[in-house]
Amino acid sequence: MAFDIDHFRVKPDEQLDLSELDPGDTPFWDADHKKEGRERLLELNDRLEELQELLWANGQERVLVILQAMDAGGKDGTIRHVFDGVNPSGVRVASFKRPSSRELAHDYLWRVHMEVPGDGELTIFNRSHYEDVLVVRVEGLVPEKRWEKRYDHIVAFEQMLADEGTTIVKLFLHISKAEQRERLQARLDEPDKNWKFDPGDLVTRVKWDDYQEAFQDALSRTSTASAPWYVIPADRKWYRNLAISEILIQTLEALDMSYPAPAEGLDEITIPD
Ligand code: AMP
Ligand code: MG
Repeated sequence: MAFDIDHFRVKPDEQLDLSELDPGDTPFWDADHKKEGRERLLELNDRLEELQELLWANGQERVLVILQAMDAGGKDGTIRHVFDGVNPSGVRVASFKRPSSRELAHDYLWRVHMEVPGDGELTIFNRSHYEDVLVVRVEGLVPEKRWEKRYDHIVAFEQMLADEGTTIVKLFLHISKAEQRERLQARLDEPDKNWKFDPGDLVTRVKWDDYQEAFQDALSRTSTASAPWYVIPADRKWYRNLAISEILIQTLEALDMSYPAPAEGLDEITIPD
């Protein structure tokens, strides 16, 4: 069955209810066909590689992919598996951690704007300015009267980027609380995953419901035609990779890019010995 990416899209006037969306769902794919799903991903990797090469050669478009999720939601795994094979020259990952004191001394979009893609580039935001209405809201890091205004700033900022030629794709990796427990437990149990364990993730886990509510508001209030949010069922990693690859490929295909026209007279040139 063909993937209809609109299925995952948060409609601009929609009030999202995340509790109604099953993180174990596998729309347009048979959940039992995991092996075939993994094989299909290899084909999609090749197609994404071609499209990214075209983006780079064409040099006229800018693409921004924003990844947000709860801890252990699969942001890093997505970057590794979906972008396997793309040309590192034209692809960049920008990770947004706790702001430094210099960053905190500026408005919250200051550090973000610096990292947006230039012509021909595809930039992946691993976390983003959305942290400024997520962790900042739930932990009360700034007063409500300040974060409350940020939804409108974000919509305006992203609209500006879009108007100036940036294609924006925002992906929320939707996992269940039970799946998060398993993944955090694996980080404790498996020595090669110990480095990923952050005790701070448990503090965040305890506030699961508050975070889900903050995500719901952020997604509902900032999903626009120019910068849509997609909710990805992410409990099954193989399916998450498949759905995200489809969304990126279809978005890049819609740009209808072509290779630059060759310089005149190439067929008359002989390479000297
Ligand atoms: P990780 O992605 O696991 O390396 O963790 C990065 C941490 O930085 C997470 O706990 C985020 O919530 C936190 N973080 C990112 N941006 C902000 C922000 N603007 N304000 C406060 N914390 C942030
Ligand atoms: Mg973490």
